[in-house]
Order: sequence, then structure tokens, then C-alpha cells
Amino acid sequence: MSIRALDPHLINQIAAGEVVERPASVVKELLENSIDAGATQIEVLVESGGVACIEIRDNGVGIPKEQLKLAVTPHATSKIGSLEDLECVASLGFRGEALASIASVSRFRLRSKTSDQAEGFEIVGSEGVWSNVQPTAQRNGTTLEVRDLFFNTPARRKFLKTEKTEFGHIDEILRRMALAHVAVQFQLSHNHRVVRHFPKAQTSDQVLARIGQVMGQEFLDQSIEVGAHRDGISLSGWIGHPTFNRSQADLQYFFVNGRLVRDRLVAHAIRQAYRDVLFHGRHPAFVLHLTIDPAAVDVNVHPQKTEVRFRDSGRVHDAVFGLLHQQLANTNPTADRSMHFAQQSNTTANESTSGYLNLNVERLVQEAATTAHRGGGDSFEYLQRSDVIVDGAGVSSGIRHQTNDDSCPALGYARAQIHGVFIVSENARGLVLVDMHAAHERIVYEDMKRRWREDRVSAQNLLVPQRITVPAAHVAILETHNEALERLGFELTQAGPNEVLVRAMPSLLSQNACTVLVERVLAELCEVGHSQLVDEALDHLLATMACYGSVRANRRLTIEEMNSLLRSMEVTERSDQCNHGRPTWVQLDMATLDRLFMRGQ
Ligand code: ADP
Ligand code: MG
Repeated sequence: MSIRALDPHLINQIAAGEVVERPASVVKELLENSIDAGATQIEVLVESGGVACIEIRDNGVGIPKEQLKLAVTPHATSKIGSLEDLECVASLGFRGEALASIASVSRFRLRSKTSDQAEGFEIVGSEGVWSNVQPTAQRNGTTLEVRDLFFNTPARRKFLKTEKTEFGHIDEILRRMALAHVAVQFQLSHNHRVVRHFPKAQTSDQVLARIGQVMGQEFLDQSIEVGAHRDGISLSGWIGHPTFNRSQADLQYFFVNGRLVRDRLVAHAIRQAYRDVLFHGRHPAFVLHLTIDPAAVDVNVHPQKTEVRFRDSGRVHDAVFGLLHQQLANTNPTADRSMHFAQQSNTTANESTSGYLNLNVERLVQEAATTAHRGGGDSFEYLQRSDVIVDGAGVSSGIRHQTNDDSCPALGYARAQIHGVFIVSENARGLVLVDMHAAHERIVYEDMKRRWREDRVSAQNLLVPQRITVPAAHVAILETHNEALERLGFELTQAGPNEVLVRAMPSLLSQNACTVLVERVLAELCEVGHSQLVDEALDHLLATMACYGSVRANRRLTIEEMNSLLRSMEVTERSDQCNHGRPTWVQLDMATLDRLFMRGQ
């Protein structure tokens, strides 16, 4: 076969393959056009999963009569005019190919009216053949009708899934648009039935309602509102509390200048930020909007415009990681949980208390950092000390018995221990249950991380050095990782080809766990390999140590020990969840307790 130029219609159909993959891609392109046209009300009507018909009506600026033909011409756009324009695209569209592509694989009808025209006009077309421009009944704005999608490209049609699946994809597009453009009203119908209605949101309550509509009320109740501006990048939105997590990455929305993008760099930054607080194998939920100078992003990377390239990707990564990491560190009982408990009525909010506590706590933490935690028997030594510290600052001693007082600490005062596992505490809201091992594990972990960063984990000599049998390969670790082991608070010497002598161990950890702990640490260091890699593996290593060295179940705690554990939780970053991402405490407020007993009904 000799080389020949393809017929323009065939060129369009080939190009359409890149843009129009399924009915949802049509909806996406048309919604983007409506948004670009400044619409504030958009209605989407779908029949048979979008294969039979997709109709989109907007109240945007419309297309002037004399430009209707141009709008459906390939590579014709009103959004850019030069290469410089391409370098700072502020609109969602810019390639000028959506309408032409869609029209080449469907029966297509475009109706539009601008506000300065007395009447509307339409053109109808299919397979590259277009009617003349005709007057038609049309309000200000644009209506697009796409029928019999892929009727002339059977191969593509064969790839379509069931009506339900295809509609599901359309629905997902609508959810994204609804999150990205809260000021716009959207309505979606399927087979003549309204299935989604998102009223326009302007006040902050309305915006919250919109987020709740799309992400679910549970997300809303368990998310943290975030917002920051740095280095010309602004980032805002809602991130799910670590204990609100998903088995799939299905509630993750990241918008760059109003465009939903999938970006590996951003995904990595978010994963890193949640790394320390999320249950293994689970996915966080978030809605995040990144706003950046359009000139700093290349949007012309993907035909469906779902990927972008950042000019300074390191800066974006750092900004996303930095904000989220900082916000997630704040997940402890004194953090502002007004959102967290939004749906629970009748609560005495503890914001004022937490403000007070936080003020003092900053100083306390500094004090604690300068107080060397040397000596002492086991982990409770540490707890008792921090208790003293809290009393010394006068935060809690004077109000210890006034649990209904506003100044009651966030986690209240311990009343009992249940089955050696849970602490029952009473606070201003009602009842608090604490998983003591989970909580202690986080406290120890955060403390060790801080000490490691500042210098070294403090060690404590054993009265009687302990002899442990380990594999020969693990004995060799003593030499290669000597420095790391010392910084971790261990003093280990070789006692035989298979034997290690433990002379000192981290003072925060329970000596009862000595054998298991040393075995685990040596095994992990053995896996890590080079000493340079220790820093990278460190969080995991410290988490393992904290897990094995913290208060195990079935340990009797005195009321004082329990209270000091609660106070430590209040001042420890990320203490709402243990090192594995499980919650460390739950609140049962009085309203919930009343409901349980049907009081007042
Ligand atoms: P692009 O969006 O990349 O410019 P499209 O093929 O999607 O390309 O649209 C071509 C042009 O048609 C747009 O540039 C715009 O001027 C016009 N247009 C399309 N849809 C609408 C709409 N709903 N309202 C107003 N103008 C529209
Ligand atoms: Mg477009």
C-alpha cells in the first residue's frame, strides 16, 4: 500500500480515540467547557449510561451565532492564541479538539445563545457533515446533545461496559466537578430520574455540606480542615483523620488550579505524610486544592488533561508533605476536634482548655526535653516523671476533682482499669476509653524519635547484664551498626559466636521485654544492611522498639500511672492513633450515654 494522506474525518476519529474513551469522557469535556464559559448552573441528562444520550445544559456566556461552526472545527479554540498562552493556561480546556472529536463519533447537536443575541442558534452534525446554522429555542447559555456514542466506531463500542458501570464513571466525574467548583450548581439525571443535586455553595456551611454530600458525612466528621500558603503555592482542603481510612484509594481528590490530576509526586508526598499514622495497607481520604501560578505547571502533557508537570516539582512535594505532616502531627486529644465531633450535640467544647493546655504544654515539653530521663526501673518511671512535671506547672492539680469544669483536661481523670487493657476516664464531655498499650506505644515512639533527632535515646544500665542467644549473622551486626545501636540506647557486646550480652537498653522501654526487643532490633538492622540506610529505616525501627517495650496488656496501673499516661497523651504528637494507625482512645459523650439508656425519651 502506498502512503496517502488520511481523510480529515478519519483523522478526527483517530484523534477522538485519545480524548473520548467512554461516555464519562464526553461528560468531563463538556462540563469543563461549561465551567470555562462561566456557568453557575449545569444540568446533565444521561440515558442508558450515556451511550444513548448525553445532554448538558449550562447558563454560561454562550457561543455567538457566527462562531458555532468554528467551535466544532478541530483545533479551534477561544482559550489560547499563541505558544506563550499555552505556557500559562488558566482555563480547563485549551486543545480545541473536544467538540470536534466527540462530534466525529456521535450524532451531535449544539445550541447556544449569548445574552446580546435576541434568539438562539443551533448546528447539527455527524461524521463530519454539518447542517447550516438554524434559529432554535434556547435560553442564554449552551446546550449540547450527544446521541448514539460510537455508533460509527464499533470497535470502541465493544469496549464499553454495562450501563450501570458507564453511569458510575459519569457519576464519578460529577463528584469531582462538584468538589472542584463548589459555587456551581450541578444536577445529574439518569433515565429521566434525578440522581444528584448539588446546590451552589457559598457560605462555609454550604461548602461543608457540599463536601459532605460528595465525601460522606463520616468523612466530614472525621477530617481536619487544612490551609496554608507558602512559596507561591497555596494548599487547602480537608484531610481525613488517620483513623478514618479506606481499603481502597477511592476518596482521594487532588486538584491543581481546579483541575483533578493524578500525580505520582503528589501521591508520594501524601503517602509520606500519612506514613507514621495510618494503619498498614489502608488508604487516606482527602480533598485538596493546590493553587499555583499557571506558568509553573505544564498542563499539556496528556490528551485527557489528567496529568500535569510541575516546573519545580521539589517545591510542590515539600509544600504538600510539609503541610500534611504538620497537620497530622496535631492529631492528639487536645487538637481542635470540633469538626471531629461535629455531629455530636450537647458538648462542652474543650477548645479553651486545649488552648490553655497547649500554651503550657509547649513549655513543659521543652522542660521535659532538657530533663534527662536517666535511671529508673521500667517504663512507669517515665510516666510518673511526666506526671510530676504536669502538676508542677499547675495545669491540673487544682482542678483534679472538678470534672464538669471547663478546665478539665481533654482526656479527663482516670477512674478505673478494665481487664488490664483499657483505662476508663471521666472528662467534661462524658466517658473516655483508652487502649493503654496503643497509647503508651505512641508516646514512647514519639519521645524516642525526638531524642534520636536531638541526640540519642537515653540508655539505662541493667543491674544484671542479660545474656541472649541469637543467630551468628546477628552477632556480626554489633560491629557494623555499633554507632546506631548506641544511639538507640543499647549497649551490647559479643559473648560468644551465638551470644550477645545486653548491658544497657533504652530507659523508656520495659526491661521485661529485653530479650524480644534485642532480637527484633538485631533482625531489623540485619535486614537494613548499610549503616547509611539506618536513618531511612529508623522510624520503623523505633516503632518496633516502642511496640515491644511499651506497657503490655494485663499490667496493673495505679490511678496515678493512668492519669500520667493520659497527660502524656495530651502533649504527644499523633497520639490519637498508635504506631500502627489504630485509635488510642474514644469518647462516649453524655448524649451518647443517655441515648444508650434511653434517658429523656
Ligand atoms: P477547548 O475547550 O479546548 O477550547 P473545545 O472543542 O472543547 O475546545 O471547544 C471549542 C470552543 O467552543 C471553546 O474554545 C469555546 O470557545 C467554545 N465552547 C465549547 N463549549 C462551550 C460552552 N458550553 N459554552 C461556551 N462556549 C463553548
Ligand atoms: Mg473543551
